[in-house]
Amino acid sequence: MRKNIVAGNWKMNNDLKATKKLVKKIRKSLKKSDLKDTRVIIAPTFVNLATAVKRSKKSKLEVAAQNMHQAKNGAFTGEVSAEMLRSIGVKTVILGHSERRAYFGETDELLAEKVNAALANKLEVIFCFGEELADRKAGKEEAVVESQIKNALFHLEAEAFKKIVLAYEPVWAIGTGETASPEQAQDMHAFIRKTLADKYGSDVANSVSILYGGSVKPANAKEIFSKPDVDGGLIGGAALKAEDFSAIINAF
Ligand code: 13P
Repeated sequence: MRKNIVAGNWKMNNDLKATKKLVKKIRKSLKKSDLKDTRVIIAPTFVNLATAVKRSKKSKLEVAAQNMHQAKNGAFTGEVSAEMLRSIGVKTVILGHSERRAYFGETDELLAEKVNAALANKLEVIFCFGEELADRKAGKEEAVVESQIKNALFHLEAEAFKKIVLAYEPVWAIGTGETASPEQAQDMHAFIRKTLADKYGSDVANSVSILYGGSVKPANAKEIFSKPDVDGGLIGGAALKAEDFSAIINAF
């Protein structure tokens, strides 16, 4: 059965000292929680990944990267490959975040290449997608989400697809304080699961964790996570405070 996951996307926050401090605090709070069925992941910046991996050893805490380049290696100044991430003990990578799409021009086609490179290096992928406010106002949210998933992921075989975690992040709810209602999240997650079932069958569809992201905080996490097709969250701002992050983890 699929796992619940709470993942903190730290974005471009936390220097080395702050990273060490936050990892320590999260580890401490995890010790107190009974989390048999929940995975907990943090995604610090590239420069602090190795430290975060080292300092998460012998704990439940897993460490993910926020991005990677699709090529194996070569003349790509400033970029980081899947193999490099693997070599420091990172096992998961976030791909397709709306900030990468909006500010760095990442397209579905490019993301398909990144997904392939990640899987070829045995990295699990947290694949993000979601509609913009204008799409929702026009009633096109399902069509947009469906095309993002199809274009970047539906070339995969069923076995490969099982290494994907999906993260539905409506762009209008990211960092805005505006959250999708638990019903809006559930409706979209159910639609996503049906889209997966149509392509890969219900066994695969039921085994994939689908996370919600966008202004999740301690006050709303419980209600959102209680929905049957919501398997956890991808948390931005609230993942930067250990107290808030652990309250969200314990919302399950
Ligand atoms: P916020 O939780 O700050 O809205 O960010 C969500 C997000 O983008 C996680 O990837």
